[in-house]
Amino acid sequence: MPRLFFALWPDDETRSRLAAAVESLPKLPGRLVPARNLHITLVFIGAVTAEQEQLLRTGADAIHAAAFELNLTQLGCWTHAAVAWLAPEATPPALLDLVARLQSVCREAGLAPDTRPHVPHLTLARKVRRVPAVNLAPIRWQINTFALVESAPGRTGSEYRPLAFWPLIPA
Ligand code: ATP
Ligand code: MG
Repeated sequence: MPRLFFALWPDDETRSRLAAAVESLPKLPGRLVPARNLHITLVFIGAVTAEQEQLLRTGADAIHAAAFELNLTQLGCWTHAAVAWLAPEATPPALLDLVARLQSVCREAGLAPDTRPHVPHLTLARKVRRVPAVNLAPIRWQINTFALVESAPGRTGSEYRPLAFWPLIPA
């Protein structure tokens, strides 16, 4: 059964800017996430049946939520999870609204999504417990879509593949 999650998936231009920002940092310890895998998880789902996947897609078809912008300004890490991340200076209400709608879609598909408060972050590296203090040049990312993404084990860690995208409503 495929392992799925809903995510913000950077367009090529944003992905290049993110990769350039990572390269401009002092080298992070730990295991860097390859540029092709950079994303922000909205709702982690886990393994689903074909029927559940179809319910997720139909539920996503019915979402009418607003587009928004993220301004990634913070480099930080969580020692408990041992990940280094980029995060926005503030969480746009539209992002939390989208997460809540996606959690509902998951519940309607008979799945039990994580209901802890959502803290948006873009994981840059794993097995990291500290990051250098840097002045990060803010990275603006206009979010016009959300994606359903498949996670599959790869040779050097999980690899992610977007399966479908849905549009958000321009502000
Ligand atoms: P691996 O588990 O192989 O070390 P991974 O955590 O990146 O790698 P997945 O577990 O498939 O791969 O997770 C896919 C995405 O969902 C990642 O962004 C991950 O951080 C996030 N994620 C996984 N589990 C949860 C969870 N319980 N709650 C919130 N986000 C999660
Ligand atoms: Mg995991």
